Parts: sequence; structure tokens; C-alpha cells
Amino acid sequence: MCGIVGYVGNKNAVDVMHGGLLKLEYRGYDSAGISYFDKAKICTRKSAGTVENLFDHIEKNLCSNIAIGHTRWATHGKANDQNSHPHVSEKGKVSLVHNGIIENYLDLKNEFLSGTQLKSETDTEVVANVLEKILIETNDKIIAISKLVKLLKGSYALAILFDDDDKNIYFTKNISPLMIGSSENGNYISSDILGFCEEATKYLEVKNLQIGKISAKNIEIFDKNGKKIDFLLKFFSKNQNSSDKEGYPHFMLKEINEVPKVIKNACNLYLTELANLIDFDQKNNISNFEVSPFLKFKNGYFDNIKKIKLIACGTSYHASKVGELLFKSIGYDANSEIASEFIYSPQVFSRDTLCIFISQSGETADTLTAINIAKKHKLKTIGITNVETSTITKLCDYILPLVCGAEIAVASTKAYNFVYYKCLQHT
Ligand code: GLU
Repeated sequence: MCGIVGYVGNKNAVDVMHGGLLKLEYRGYDSAGISYFDKAKICTRKSAGTVENLFDHIEKNLCSNIAIGHTRWATHGKANDQNSHPHVSEKGKVSLVHNGIIENYLDLKNEFLSGTQLKSETDTEVVANVLEKILIETNDKIIAISKLVKLLKGSYALAILFDDDDKNIYFTKNISPLMIGSSENGNYISSDILGFCEEATKYLEVKNLQIGKISAKNIEIFDKNGKKIDFLLKFFSKNQNSSDKEGYPHFMLKEINEVPKVIKNACNLYLTELANLIDFDQKNNISNFEVSPFLKFKNGYFDNIKKIKLIACGTSYHASKVGELLFKSIGYDANSEIASEFIYSPQVFSRDTLCIFISQSGETADTLTAINIAKKHKLKTIGITNVETSTITKLCDYILPLVCGAEIAVASTKAYNFVYYKCLQHT
């Protein structure tokens, strides 16, 4: 999952894009690009390679109060300049950046764009051009986006500039994460809190199929039919959006060195509090957890659970193998599965199954798809994640936060740490 950032306000938006895109580099990317307004015209700069490479080739004195930016992880077409985002529509009315995959882009291309000369191989350029076509018919930006949303199948977070509006960034999303950040100096849009560069003091998580626009002073949200809706901005908790190396040369080194502290915090949160409430000697049954004021599981949630499936990818999958052993050691029928295997293999689900999903970022695409499958079969779902604002927290019945603090390093430093807590020695 790559990155989106956008800003409108009284700072130089080109500089904000530079800072924001650097913050999103940790998500992995192959290209970068920005669109901004210069003398009431949209200008676009983009190239394959690093964010620094892009900004090395941009004049140093560029100035704008509004811009959108993107780091791409190619899914449709090579990682080259042409396929980089933003994508500008044929008549130049629309410039947009996209995170995700439009599954029906070929159908849309055939239906709407037979006479359009596309410049890239991406699904995203199709979206930009379909939106332009609808806009020409409707002449209303929010209505045009609402019609677009009804056509798109797949995952997307879109940040959009229109050539006749240099005051607003428009947006919509489905599945891919998108957040709005608000600060004294203007409003931000990003796929990740870190894209706000610690400037935003309040935020809003955009919900699937919502549409909206931000200007320097205003945020407006609409439902998928274009009807204006109310919303509440949340305040950031301290350090929630910070990403400081704290003197270490790399985030990875910093995060490895945080491991003892983080384990202590997690133990304090889960075990000290729970140990006071649970008599492990009497009964080693997870239904005891429902008495915890911290976890707040609703009464009876764990009744009749006979099987436990742990589902994850990569290092989180390895962590789930340990979980499998622990659940087996207290008498549960448990197994762990790689999310990408789970979603494609034929499964027989029984309703006495609890599914536990582990994703450090809470955005692992296959794990999110697996949660949706489990929910479709009405299974109980618990997520273990480090990111309170992530998609996994919105999908699962309950979340167990990992309380590790911001994790920027791509290599996993915390998901696979194992503490052999004394309660298990009693089993
Ligand atoms: N599907 C789009 C592309 O290939 C967006 C990929 C992304 O999320 O970076 O360009």
C-alpha cells in the first residue's frame, strides 16, 4: 500500500508534499509525483524512483497553496514516469492520485473511453478520464464523484484536483485508508497519519464511499449520493502522529531498541490488569477475559467457541503460529493460516469458530479481505494491530492494540516477540 498526501492552506504546499511524501516512504514505493496550482493552472511533476529524485528535479522556488502528492507501488503497468501518479485526464480537467486497485477498469475503459487516447497502462488514468466525462455531463463535482463511486469496483483512495477550482481538494475512498487532518495553517489529506507531518491537531477517518472536499478553512463530507453529512473531528493523542528517530540513525534500530520497553508496556496493559481479575489456577478459559474493563468484550462473546483460527501474513503469520501453540496448550482446537491462502482456498466454516487477525499496520490487504470473508460467514472476529486508526479496527468485532508506538521501519521489529508469561506455566 503506497501513499497519498494533499494539503491546502497558507504554507507552501509543494514543500508540504516534499515532507509528507518522505514520511510515507516507509510504506514502500517505486515512483512519486505531485500536482499543484500555479497561476490558476494545474501543473504536474512525476517520475519513477525516489521522492528525493523527484524533488531534485523540481525548481526550488515553486510555490502553491494547494497540492496533491503520491508515492506509487505499481499494480497496473511498469514503474515508469508515464505510469506514475498524478494522472491527468485527456482535457486536463481532472488530476488525481489513487491508492488501490480498480478491478473493473477494463470494462470502464471499454464503456466510456473508446475515443480517449490514454498515456499510461494504469487503472488510475481510466478513473481520471471517466470522472472527466461524467463531470462534463453533470457539471457538478460532488455529483460527478458520486456517480463515479457507483461505477468503481475495487479498492481506492482518491485525492482529486479540478482545473477550475484552486481552492479545494476533493476525495473519496473505498477499502484503502484515507484521513483528513486539520491544523491552524490549513487542511491535509493522507493515507496515513504520518503524512500530516505532525502539523494536524485534529483528524477524521473518511469512511468507505464517502465523498468530500477540503479547503484551507473548511472540511465538507457527503454520502455516496452527494448528500451533505455531519462529522466530528477527533483530537490526536500525544505522539500519535509523530515519527522521530530520537537520535538513532535508522527507525529500525530505534524500534529494535524499544522492544523491552514495549513488551513491558503491553504486559502492564494486558497482564497486570488482567492478572488481578483472572484466576488462572482456577480456570484457563478465555471467556474469563470478558470481566476485564480494558478489553470490554460483551458478555457471552466467547461462549461456545470451539475452534480458533489465527490469520495473518509475513511476520504476523509467524507470530500467529506461536499463538496457535498457546491456544492448543489450553485445550483449544487452533490453527493458523496465511491470509492469502485463506482467501483463495475452499473452506468449511463452522459458527463456533473465533478468527483472530494479526496485522501490525492494520492495512495488510489480504488480511483485510480475509476479515471480510469471516464476517460474511458470521464468524467472530478479533484483530491484533498496532494502529488504532487502521482499517482492521473498523472491520473486526474487537481489537487488541499492540501499544508499540509509531512503527516506521518496513522490517518487522515487534510483531514477533514472545513473552512466556507465568500464567501459562500453570497449564
Ligand atoms: N493501481 C494503481 C497503479 O498501478 C495504484 C497503485 C498504488 O496503490 O500505488 O498505478
